[in-house]
Amino acid sequence: MSKAAFRGGVHPPEHKEATAALPIEWMPVPARLVVPMSQHLGAPCAPLVAAGDRVRRGQVIGSVDAMVSAPIHSPVDGEVTSVGTCLTAGGMRVPCVNITPDAEQDLASFEPVPDGDVRATVRGAGIVGLGGATFPSAVKLSPPKGVDVGTVILNGCECEPYLTCDHRLMVESADRVIAGAKIMAETIGAKRVVIGVEENKPDAIAALRAAAGEGIEVRSLVTRYPQGAEKQLIWAFLKTEVPHGKLPAAAGALVHNVATAAAIADAVELRKPLTERVVTVTGRVARPGNYRVLLGTLVSDLIEHAGGFSGDVGRVVAGGPMTGPALADLDVPIAKGTSGIVVFGPDEIAPLVEGDQPCIRCGRCSEGCPMFLQPYLIATHANRRDWTSAGLFHPVDCIECGVCSYSCPTRRPLLQLIRLAKAAAMAKGAKL
Ligand code: SF4
Ligand code: SF4
Repeated sequence: MSKAAFRGGVHPPEHKEATAALPIEWMPVPARLVVPMSQHLGAPCAPLVAAGDRVRRGQVIGSVDAMVSAPIHSPVDGEVTSVGTCLTAGGMRVPCVNITPDAEQDLASFEPVPDGDVRATVRGAGIVGLGGATFPSAVKLSPPKGVDVGTVILNGCECEPYLTCDHRLMVESADRVIAGAKIMAETIGAKRVVIGVEENKPDAIAALRAAAGEGIEVRSLVTRYPQGAEKQLIWAFLKTEVPHGKLPAAAGALVHNVATAAAIADAVELRKPLTERVVTVTGRVARPGNYRVLLGTLVSDLIEHAGGFSGDVGRVVAGGPMTGPALADLDVPIAKGTSGIVVFGPDEIAPLVEGDQPCIRCGRCSEGCPMFLQPYLIATHANRRDWTSAGLFHPVDCIECGVCSYSCPTRRPLLQLIRLAKAAAMAKGAKL
């Protein structure tokens, strides 16, 4: 079994045992859907429907002409009750379309994506990075002219604790993942396809190898967070770094998540738009599971479907605990990038600390940083709002993995401070 790794990172307790063996099951259609018009990186969509309109499952209900964007489709047959705004899991207020689903639904049926080449179909289907990055996939499939992208890398690491949605997808739908990988490689002319899976998912590795056939490598990687990050995967397989300020294409690679690959296969082969995704619901809920959920389902409805809370609740996180935001309101919708809902008890979260925490110069944040940064220095300058000094230590190279915050014994809010420094540097023109 071949392995590869990267420098830095951490190995937090995995906590995947509650859901790793549970097959994906559909959540029934909820009584209401709140479909945000911004579920991707890039320009938000404008609603194309109005209150009282009938909509069909798969119908485009939001779009925009900007290149970096992705249309939004109705997940159900139903009626638009209103067009307004909603809060997202990340705390942004965005336009949304509220839909009351019909009592009778045929989820096997949908309005197909119009005929077109692969890139047009992927865009038309609204596909974005389902690992959480939500970058529009059609843009990724269009590398700059003259750049030779020789390798497609699929991320099947699912290195965040608690999450198992990608794991189950690889076990249950390995053929769709492989089909998507082949479509991507053919579209960009890549000669090599590698799928990286952490070694704690042997059944997923076996399923992918059985489905892969000739010419696709399924590689086992050490279990270490953030093994699934784009730059760390490229290093693991190609032993090359993405140059500062450049896209992975500059290193000869295209990286996609395994769930994105399966969605691309469904779009190209079945002309199916992206209207649902698999979400791991775990922690203090009565019935943890991997649920296939219509986009726009409220977190509160999903938790109720998972049997409700099974004890006192300290925090509910959307996504994994290393990078996911804590939810201030449970009436926020599941969106394309929502991979999990993790419910923590009061005894499982660190108590809030008040005021500035001292840096004891232990160096753990620097040792763990997979991007070779000095998090304590960036954070110290950011804490003083000295953006010029913070910018000298390259906050734009931070991949926001949260390893530094996790590692810090005095629990300094490193990631939050580094995000501020990154935003300040980008406002001054620094490129990611
Ligand atoms: S500075 Fe950024 S990349 Fe480095 S550990 Fe912290 S969050 Fe991760
Ligand atoms: S881990 Fe925390 S205490 Fe240690 S050097 Fe980094 S910021 Fe300072």
